Amino acid sequence: MKCKKCSKTAVIRLIQHNTAFCAEHFIEYFEKCIQRTITEYSMIQKDDRVLVAVSGGKDSMTLWYVLNKLGYKTSGLLIDTGIGELKSNVISDFAVKMSRELMIVDVKEYLSGLTTPEVAKLIRRPTCSVCGLIRRYLMNKVAYENGYDLLVTGHNLDDEVSFLLGNLLNWNLEYLQRQAPFMPKTHKRIVAKAKPLVWLTEKEIYVYAMLNEIPFESERCPFSKDASSLRYKSLLNRLEIDQPGTKLRFYKQFQRLSLFQRDAILLNECVTCGYPTTTDKCSFCRMRERIENAMGEQAN
Ligand code: AMP
Ligand code: ZN
Ligand code: ZN
Repeated sequence: MKCKKCSKTAVIRLIQHNTAFCAEHFIEYFEKCIQRTITEYSMIQKDDRVLVAVSGGKDSMTLWYVLNKLGYKTSGLLIDTGIGELKSNVISDFAVKMSRELMIVDVKEYLSGLTTPEVAKLIRRPTCSVCGLIRRYLMNKVAYENGYDLLVTGHNLDDEVSFLLGNLLNWNLEYLQRQAPFMPKTHKRIVAKAKPLVWLTEKEIYVYAMLNEIPFESERCPFSKDASSLRYKSLLNRLEIDQPGTKLRFYKQFQRLSLFQRDAILLNECVTCGYPTTTDKCSFCRMRERIENAMGEQAN
């Protein structure tokens, strides 16, 4: 297999694009793809202060690396959810190597001293949904309070198409309306959010990370083992083998539907914390209330 650009031995074959690249040309293709996505959706302006949500996985570490290489002003944010052993050393060493700041936020400070799994057990909710709610709320809060213009996450094409399939199977249109690669600021306390890796697959990100010696944690979260998103991913991978390009087509056509809710919807300010909500109290504050009630009951 030869590189389509220079005829050197290819390191990766991209069936969905009917092409193959050597290391040098794959790196060039990968970075151009991210820059094109940023430009196409007007995600980042040159002087924007960008906060990269870094979990330590290959996607967010690669995203951070490429955004720096492209010249954007970034800092990292790691939310310590208390799940498993915190691998912050890998991330903080990487931040030092790139001369970028890393903020580490411990969820316990916001949850009466409890970790995410402890909260989930106490209020009898699935760990993944509790974890998602906490991470989304804190990412926005930290980005807003520290004056960032944009929050970026490492969601890739495989994440997006599995989310798309799952939400279509359940006709969860409300979720799909919020799945855009770029969500502009719709309220003074909601920071704009972007996913610059949406057109790249897990395989492409993995190969780029390896070629550039980007450190990352490959361990999966112990709570997501049975998650239906993994089943959708494996189903979509099988479809992709039979019909290359399925994932790209599926996501591209979805983008064309323009289903996304880009306009400001009427939002209230949470009576407890002041962050936007569609009701009178936001779901994070309602969760905190349930924690306090459950702790009170335990004490009695
Ligand atoms: P996940 O929801 O685990 O698939 O992660 C999607 C994206 O969210 C990652 O690529 C990161 O950008 C971000 N993310 C996930 N977990 C964390 C975390 N603990 N701290 C900061 N960012 C995170
Ligand atoms: Zn080449
Ligand atoms: Zn609130």
